[in-house]
Amino acid sequence: MSEIRYDGRVAIVTGAGLGLGRCHAMALAARGARVVVNDLGGSVDGTGTGSAAEDVANEIRAAGGEAISHTANVTRADEVADMVKQAMDSWGRVDVLVNNAGILRDKSFAKMDIADFQAVVDVHLMGSVVCTKAVWDIMREQNYGRIAMTSSSSGLYGNFGQSNYGAAKMAVVGFMNTLHLEGQKYDIRVNCLAPTAATRMTEGLLPPAALDLMKPETVSTGLVYLVSEDGPSRTILCAGAGGFAATKIYETDGIYLPPEELTPENVAAQFDAIKDPAAQKEFQAGGEQTIKFLTKAAAHHGVK
Ligand code: NAD
Repeated sequence: MSEIRYDGRVAIVTGAGLGLGRCHAMALAARGARVVVNDLGGSVDGTGTGSAAEDVANEIRAAGGEAISHTANVTRADEVADMVKQAMDSWGRVDVLVNNAGILRDKSFAKMDIADFQAVVDVHLMGSVVCTKAVWDIMREQNYGRIAMTSSSSGLYGNFGQSNYGAAKMAVVGFMNTLHLEGQKYDIRVNCLAPTAATRMTEGLLPPAALDLMKPETVSTGLVYLVSEDGPSRTILCAGAGGFAATKIYETDGIYLPPEELTPENVAAQFDAIKDPAAQKEFQAGGEQTIKFLTKAAAHHGVK
């Protein structure tokens, strides 16, 4: 296995002033990437601003790497456009985008304001959309791009008090699925990272001994592969504490109910068969589901 390098590559890492983003930026820079360290430097709920991005860019430069910082709010298309322009003016290309910026506004859904739901969806989903849109044409013209979204087990599986965050974190999976299809022709690969790490987002949730095992560096190791030249596409890489796994979405083969049996009671009666994973499949595009159902119906009706 050859060493994974980023020499000559330009990477933008959002929310890289702290936590996982900082580690991703440092790890990419350590392997030769020129890095735009983005962060508006706010608190965990997204309020306020600060100079965290420039601090990390300084750390990278002190270690012999190349970095510029930018305080763009990822939800603001004008600020993101300025950030991408700075990357292009400085280095002439953008090869890698790591959509990592994130905030939390946890509350049970019953107590959550729409404003808190919206703010979280804005940063995680729309921030990823705005930043991806700003580099998409550049990557298409280069015929090269590597994009990572940041998902979460809270989105993939749910987590009490995180309906806003979970919705946004699953939304980026849907975003990835279509970008994977549309980017293929241009060698743009799109993946999701579902991390678990000790950062200010998780401090206090686990005992110190557990958090010691969950250093962000353990996750960045996976990210460095995910956005590399030979990295995969449309993979949800789960990573934490040195563990790596992939989450996949499968659809069961299901059943067919002919017109004379098409009743809700029959759906209920066959629910176990509907959920039976024995012949489940991972589809490559949404239309495959339609084809599967039409094939079953056509066979019944004798339609070719
Ligand atoms: P963190 O709070 O340490 O880092 C998030 C960074 O994003 C902060 O530096 C913050 O200033 C920045 N940011 C927030 N809103 C921004 C905006 N609008 N524009 C630019 N920057 C902004 O948290 P972290 O744990 O390092 O989280 C990084 C990513 O990983 C997030 O997307 C988070 O949801 C995700 N994640 C983390 C964990 C975990 O266990 N830590 C688990 C699952 C997912």
